[in-house]
Amino acid sequence: MKNSSDLPEYLAESSAYFHESGEAKKDFTIAVVGGGITGLVAAHALLALSDRCRVTVFERAIPGGRLATRTLCDIPIDVGPDNFLIRRQEAVQLCTALGLKDELVEPKNGDVKILSDGKLFSMPKKSHMGVPVDFKEIAALGLVSKGGLKALKKDRNYPKHQGGDRTIYELVAPRLGEEVLDLLVEPMAAGIHAGLASTLGVSATVPEFLAAAIQHGSLTRGLKPLVEAKLLRENPPIGRSPEPVFYGLKNGMGSIIDRLVDSMSLSSRIEIRVGTEVEAIEIARKSGPLIDKFALVAGQNKYLVDGVIVSTPGPTTGELIKDIEPEIGKQISSIPHASVALATLAYNKLDLFPSHGQRGLLVPRSQGIPITAVTWMSQKWPHLNKSDLNFVRISIGKMNDNSHKSMTEGQLVALASEFLASTFGIKAQIIESRVDRYNEAFPNYAPDHLVNMARLRESVASRGPIILSGPLFGGIGIGSRIADGAMAASRLLKILGEIGSG
Ligand SMILES: Cc1cc2nc3c(=O)[nH]c(=O)nc-3n(C[C@H](O)[C@H](O)[C@H](O)COP(=O)(O)OP(=O)(O)OC[C@H]3O[C@@H](n4cnc5c(N)ncnc54)[C@H](O)[C@@H]3O)c2cc1C
Repeated sequence: MKNSSDLPEYLAESSAYFHESGEAKKDFTIAVVGGGITGLVAAHALLALSDRCRVTVFERAIPGGRLATRTLCDIPIDVGPDNFLIRRQEAVQLCTALGLKDELVEPKNGDVKILSDGKLFSMPKKSHMGVPVDFKEIAALGLVSKGGLKALKKDRNYPKHQGGDRTIYELVAPRLGEEVLDLLVEPMAAGIHAGLASTLGVSATVPEFLAAAIQHGSLTRGLKPLVEAKLLRENPPIGRSPEPVFYGLKNGMGSIIDRLVDSMSLSSRIEIRVGTEVEAIEIARKSGPLIDKFALVAGQNKYLVDGVIVSTPGPTTGELIKDIEPEIGKQISSIPHASVALATLAYNKLDLFPSHGQRGLLVPRSQGIPITAVTWMSQKWPHLNKSDLNFVRISIGKMNDNSHKSMTEGQLVALASEFLASTFGIKAQIIESRVDRYNEAFPNYAPDHLVNMARLRESVASRGPIILSGPLFGGIGIGSRIADGAMAASRLLKILGEIGSG
């Protein structure tokens, strides 16, 4: 077992968990299936925590998964996640451990617009995840109708919530009314998950809504302190600098993947097999009731290993564990996932753009189009603003709207540019474009989802050294992914230690 003072900071919490049981007495082979951020962090943590394991990462395509920086007009640009929340310390800690601290960049603040019936409205500044906490401000913006404002007033005296988790719709609609839910809360709170307010649970998506409803009844009153704290961070008193909430990386988020792969390539105890799809995980040997050897099937080959971390998207994970826990496999496979496509367009900067001072646009579901958001990437990121190009990202598709899947890249680019023309009057010529598709990227976190997933994960782990990880088991954000990968590694080593020392 490694000395805890030698471990990277991002492993502090999970290593304490592993240290309780001590390490296995013999050497082990471990497979990590899926080389996205979760799987790569799990592999990195395994090497950091133990000298006794040999690790193989099986990756169907190339390392990184959804975390992808590609080039457009020869400029590196994020075509998946472009920032992470600083509040989850793990991401900053991992960047620091990988020598990327000096490359962290803050996105620029700017106005977010909402599209309603062809017109653009500003998102209220005094709001949290679409919940407006200042009645006068929301009334003055002109976005919400008189009837909608009347419904919103109900929230002030709404009784305290009793009971457990609810969908966003169930908690928000009775308090704020359907119109505020549709125009503001769903595009923000559910939009992050490409999901629907009617099926996403609050505890896994916006737990602060649940806390506010339990403590205050009223969401607007309960969330007001959060909004005030946010405004103070953004506009601090003289002598203090604004505190950033997000960081990106100046050469793109893919730098995290490149550095993780580079740092592991120094070790002789790891192999990353790219272009290798695992088709099944079979039970190869049992020791009493516990599985102690797994066979990973990939094409004509079978790989025997002592432990497995599965870091594939939910539907694949469900399929892969069917030999081990058929019922759980079925349950996991049946959880709906949303797929999206992103069109990134490059324009000449000299062409006039109406986006000055704006960060982006959200499109509520009621507008009846597959486009959900526009991000003015060059406005958001100072490093992209330095070029003589203007980059715009258009997000297409959400839960229950897969129309983008049957569209060609050309059709998606046409959809995006026609939308920019009709909404902003942008008729300039596109210099270059690209489309990136993310199938089954966003799990639907139904009420009580995380508790249910923790139970399933434990049931699978009780069969032997096999740990399920990935967004299905604990949040989509990059910080959550890093914490989850690290936890999967320490949990697996703990089980291996228990078997190995017996
Ligand atoms: C468009 C988009 C924008 C996002 N924006 C943000 C953001 O700004 N901030 C943020 O914090 N989060 C964001 N997220 C969420 C975040 O990107 C993801 O939650 C995270 O990257 C998931 O990482 P992962 O490693 O768990 O899964 P994945 O990235 O899905 O990786 C899984 C890997 O498994 C591989 N694989 C699949 N099947 C097999 C198999 N059978 N055998 C071997 N390998 C297999 C895949 O090729 C893939 O590389 C965004 C997500 C998307 C899609």
